[in-house]
Amino acid sequence: MPKKLDLTDNLEQYIIDNSEPLTKVQKEIIEYNITLGDQKRLQISVSQAQLLQSLIKASGVKKILEIGSFTGFSALSMALALPSDGSLISLDKNLEFSKKAKVFYEKANENKIIQIIKPALESLNELKNSKTKFDLVFIDADKENYLNYYNICIDLIDKGRLIIIDNVLWHGEVADGSKNDKFTSIIRDFNKYLKQDSRVSKNIIPVGDGFTICIKK
Ligand code: CA
Repeated sequence: MPKKLDLTDNLEQYIIDNSEPLTKVQKEIIEYNITLGDQKRLQISVSQAQLLQSLIKASGVKKILEIGSFTGFSALSMALALPSDGSLISLDKNLEFSKKAKVFYEKANENKIIQIIKPALESLNELKNSKTKFDLVFIDADKENYLNYYNICIDLIDKGRLIIIDNVLWHGEVADGSKNDKFTSIIRDFNKYLKQDSRVSKNIIPVGDGFTICIKK
């Protein structure tokens, strides 16, 4: 077995520098998020955005659903990887962040993104009732509802399609038995649920704060 890599900031930067370059507006969103202080942690990492883009391109994804958009870095990154007839529905209840995200989408001339600003569970139930289907669902919103989101989203995709969930390693605390706070426990229970869920095959990737990639069987 090869020696485990220590993913230092230096190495992370090297990875970013040698992967698909970011666009001007992607960089602008990152710079803006830094000004938000602690809230910037709501943004996915650059490596995560690049991985999502590769998965979208490799699997011929055309219809994306995103739950939790923050200021739009993940939605814009994914939309950029879509073909011109692709679309992305972005669910977020935060008006302020959504308005800011829209400014960035317009700046990037990106018109594949449709924002729905209200509690995601309402939107998800509407999408389910209208039998809308997606090729990829990205879940990155309030952790209390992860399981609810996942269980609706599984009906919004067909066999072979993807659900990707962020923050599944929760700063590594999921594997630390001494950590039993509310959010660590929620994520741990969620991961346990996914493990026994025979509807999907799954793969946890240690990128950013941890992605689980689920493929519907
Ligand atoms: Ca996240």
